[in-house]
Amino acid sequence: MSSDFLQQIQQRRTFAIISHPDAGKTTITEKLLLFGNAIQLAGSVKGKKGPHAKSDWMSMEQERGISVTSSVMQFPYKERTVNLLDTPGHEDFSEDTYRTLTAVDSVLMVIDGAKGVEDRTIKLMEVCRLRDTPILSFINKMDRDIRDPIDVMDEIEEVLKISAAPINWPIGMGKEFKGVYNLYTDVIHVFQQGMGHTINDDIQIKGLDSPEADELLGAYAEDVREEIELVRGATHEFDIEEYLAGRMTPVFFGTALGNFGVREMLDGFVEWAPSPLNRETRQREVDAKEEKFSGFVFKIQANMDPKHRDRIAFMRVCSGKYTQGMKMKHVRLGKDVKIADAVTFLAGDRSAVDEAISGDIIGLHNHGTIQIGDTFTQGEELKFTGIPHFAPELFRRIRLKDPLKTKQLQKGLQQLSEEGSTQVFFPVNNNDIIVGAVGVLQFEVVAYRLKDEYKVEAIYEPVNVQTARWIESSDTKAIDEIKRKASDHIAIDGGGHLTYLAPTRVNLNLAQERYPDVEFWSTREH
Ligand code: GDP
Repeated sequence: MSSDFLQQIQQRRTFAIISHPDAGKTTITEKLLLFGNAIQLAGSVKGKKGPHAKSDWMSMEQERGISVTSSVMQFPYKERTVNLLDTPGHEDFSEDTYRTLTAVDSVLMVIDGAKGVEDRTIKLMEVCRLRDTPILSFINKMDRDIRDPIDVMDEIEEVLKISAAPINWPIGMGKEFKGVYNLYTDVIHVFQQGMGHTINDDIQIKGLDSPEADELLGAYAEDVREEIELVRGATHEFDIEEYLAGRMTPVFFGTALGNFGVREMLDGFVEWAPSPLNRETRQREVDAKEEKFSGFVFKIQANMDPKHRDRIAFMRVCSGKYTQGMKMKHVRLGKDVKIADAVTFLAGDRSAVDEAISGDIIGLHNHGTIQIGDTFTQGEELKFTGIPHFAPELFRRIRLKDPLKTKQLQKGLQQLSEEGSTQVFFPVNNNDIIVGAVGVLQFEVVAYRLKDEYKVEAIYEPVNVQTARWIESSDTKAIDEIKRKASDHIAIDGGGHLTYLAPTRVNLNLAQERYPDVEFWSTREH
């Protein structure tokens, strides 16, 4: 492998942002792109309420002012190439987010300083923990009166069970916000107001004990020095090994809206965040620096752009290099395919890609053959693992307005379930079709797309199912028994897997007791 290629891989940083809605993910994304020169003006990423809803792909989404899709942004920063994977903000689409987290090497956690650690952050953190993903933190909205920073740090440690190491510390907050003090370089970065839309000069004061610091802090100078002394004593020191192992998060303070503290955070990020990591497959570990190409699909997206009316499979490149027109093996199908038209994404706009390497995300045009979790290689029989499928929590029976369209309905649901937009179950004892979702908005998306893409009008009816488990046993007799005795609860899912549909938690518990040789899985790998 050429040293140039190895260096390019070393320079890649592929990450996603996790946060609770309204913590500032969109705003910080804009500023990151501003630093990356990826867009001329901040504010055009996906103005949720504004006219530039670039990554919105569907009118329903725009009407609701939510962003359902994940897109990918690539930008250069300080000799690095940064890939930022956007995730849907709405929790109804959390499955998408979970899978996107399997395609990154680290995450940025954005916390609203006034609100502290919120629900969705806790959930997303649990997903990160499954893979010990390194987490860097940004405590946002310092231009407001937030909670005592020490309390926020304590909360991160207690609630998220990760040690927190402040890299910089805020000086004042709200109207009195003066800037941040870097605990390692002994530099104060001075806050300037009204510079949110530009890359402002980094005004530095060297030394907390300097006369310049006295001048900036005025009557507070001594208090600030005492506080910093206290902070040093009461918090962890940053340890990069602990960070890379997912046990410690370096913490930066700032304001995304004021575009302050973001640059310091980004500098720390490109310095410490891991370059593309090795990935597990069922057969062996794939080294990100291997010469031969490999990758897996973590997301399929329809109608990204109404003009194109197609489906894009998002693939994380795990090793080697994609070049335009190359042949890849689609492992599940055992077929070689020539890929001539992969695309990349820049803030929602797509363009053809000539080359992509480990850590990059490329989009493949999918004509119905690609599924989430599919592995592509240069010939080797590999299957990447760890791309999860979660048991739905909400269920509806789906019924056609026009019964003659059963075929289209089945085809539509099959495809939508393959791309992960919904899950579908066919009970063995009747002709019902049951649709499962993690969030209620998913049902609306499915109905909309069935109508729009498959020309079938479907209606939902309530169904007496509360939860589902994929069932499996090494003992075929045990499977036969549950299929026979509990047949009213048995269904086949869109992927052909045996499923137990439970009307209540109690029923599920009883079934688990009654059939001890059967395993009930709440997640399934693709
Ligand atoms: P998201 O839902 O996490 O993407 O959050 P947004 O980036 O859309 O931000 C939510 C709201 O918080 C918006 O009204 C932002 O303008 C505001 N906001 C974001 N960052 C800051 C900040 O640093 N200070 C203040 N005062 N408001 C902010």
